[in-house]
Amino acid sequence: MTITYPLGDNLYINMTNRCSNSCDFCIRNGEDKESEQWDSDKDIVGTFKLWLDHEPTVEEVIESLIKSDYSKYKQIVFCGFGEPFERFYDCVKVAKWLKEQGNVYIRANTNGQANLIHNRDVTPDMKGIFDEIGISLNAENAEKYQDICHSVFGVAAYDGLLEFARLAAEKGIKVKMTVVDTIGEEAINMCRKIAQDNGCELRVRELIE
Ligand code: SF4
Repeated sequence: MTITYPLGDNLYINMTNRCSNSCDFCIRNGEDKESEQWDSDKDIVGTFKLWLDHEPTVEEVIESLIKSDYSKYKQIVFCGFGEPFERFYDCVKVAKWLKEQGNVYIRANTNGQANLIHNRDVTPDMKGIFDEIGISLNAENAEKYQDICHSVFGVAAYDGLLEFARLAAEKGIKVKMTVVDTIGEEAINMCRKIAQDNGCELRVRELIE
């Protein structure tokens, strides 16, 4: 099974197939055992088998990072077939280990619902460990977000992710929110303002079919 996989200049970690969302566009909804995965930062696409037969232990993840020669990559990114922060505390253990090894840039692509999932503000645990997080904002308001993402937290997911983003940005973590270019100019402008008001950048990316 694929625990780590290279994409572009970066090495990715596939921690879990669980997620608090069930987005209409999620590749997890497909039957394929092999699916395309993209780097949300650069729109690079690769094809990988990311269904896990079990969630890798922290030790298995570290072993896979070592085997993949992680130090030759620009960034190590928590991003697989699921929401990495469903396993937030294990992600922190792996990220801490990486930071102890040297100068490693660590990013996580997340749905931003970690505080809701773990029922506390987890952002203090991320300070000095995660350099960057990418959050899919997807929509300009809570109702539209829920229509697309079907979070187990209902419409509260949207405010939860905004608060998580703001608290992470306050800890000095670079937070990039993303939307796809098909949502329309007005919605994009609203999303840009929402991102800026929460101390984050907005990245508009092309929709990858
Ligand atoms: S947040 Fe990501 S992993 Fe979760 S359902 Fe949506 S697209 Fe899939």
